[in-house]
Amino acid sequence: MAAPVVWKTPGEVRAWVKSVQLLGQRIALVPTMGFLHEGHLSLMREGGKRAEVVAASIFVNPTQFGPQEDLSTYPRDAAGDLRRCGSAGVFGVYMPEPSTVYPGGYQTYVNVEEVSQGLDGDKRPGHFRGVATVVAKLLALFRPDVALFGEKDYQQLQVITRLNADLELGAEIIGMPTIRETDGLAMSSRNSYLSPDERRRALGLSRGLFAAQKAAAAGEADVAKLLALIRTELVGVQAREDYVELVDARKLTPLTVLEKGTPARALVAAFMGKTRLIDNVAIQLG
Ligand code: AMP
Repeated sequence: MAAPVVWKTPGEVRAWVKSVQLLGQRIALVPTMGFLHEGHLSLMREGGKRAEVVAASIFVNPTQFGPQEDLSTYPRDAAGDLRRCGSAGVFGVYMPEPSTVYPGGYQTYVNVEEVSQGLDGDKRPGHFRGVATVVAKLLALFRPDVALFGEKDYQQLQVITRLNADLELGAEIIGMPTIRETDGLAMSSRNSYLSPDERRRALGLSRGLFAAQKAAAAGEADVAKLLALIRTELVGVQAREDYVELVDARKLTPLTVLEKGTPARALVAAFMGKTRLIDNVAIQLG
């Protein structure tokens, strides 16, 4: 596969978008923060099935990090990422500088009111404002026919689906399943922070979620009991819970009992040492 084109400015992207539109071709966009793994690449490959050309962005977006978070240490590998994008069939990658996306005097932000509340919205104040702002800018710049995001960041996917509809940005938003390591750990750029011991213990998150998923499928409707199954696994691996919740899969409002036919989602955020990990699964009462 050819090495992707690299764009550094919105002007370069706009010129390319116009040329693609003139040819009547569809664009798929995959926004990322880089340090790419199979989860990211699965979105890019799916983009290639849904559109003639695939573009990606790699931008560690400062406005979605809190003051105590890992902006300055977020892992980076631009050269490796470009190779991986090329192998996944990506035509071009937008890699702007923060000062290009947020030049002096910048003052416009996007706030998605309801689905940004609760879960990560409560634990990471301002996070979804940063996410919504940068994704709205990317969707407005690329005008993609489809944009692909992972269910790994489940609340983020709901925020983006909402903003795309509300701002009439016209993309089809595709949510893609979480890609896991063979032992079940959800792939994440932040897994690179884990020591070998933390990496082993991190399995407690997915183990707990799968236990709850299995119990619900077997008929357990009591949400307190399902949450307890998840917490037992977190305690067992000495993970520090940030939240454990079972919510309505669309509105993200907490549930107390499961009902047949109502899609639900179990979500976990927990610290393994200094590293904050998130994961989630679909919950269906059997
Ligand atoms: P990030 O680089 O972490 O901002 O993620 C970029 C995109 O990749 C987001 O839409 C994520 O939800 C998605 N993503 C991250 N990890 C995974 C995974 N393990 N499986 C599927 N998609 C993922």
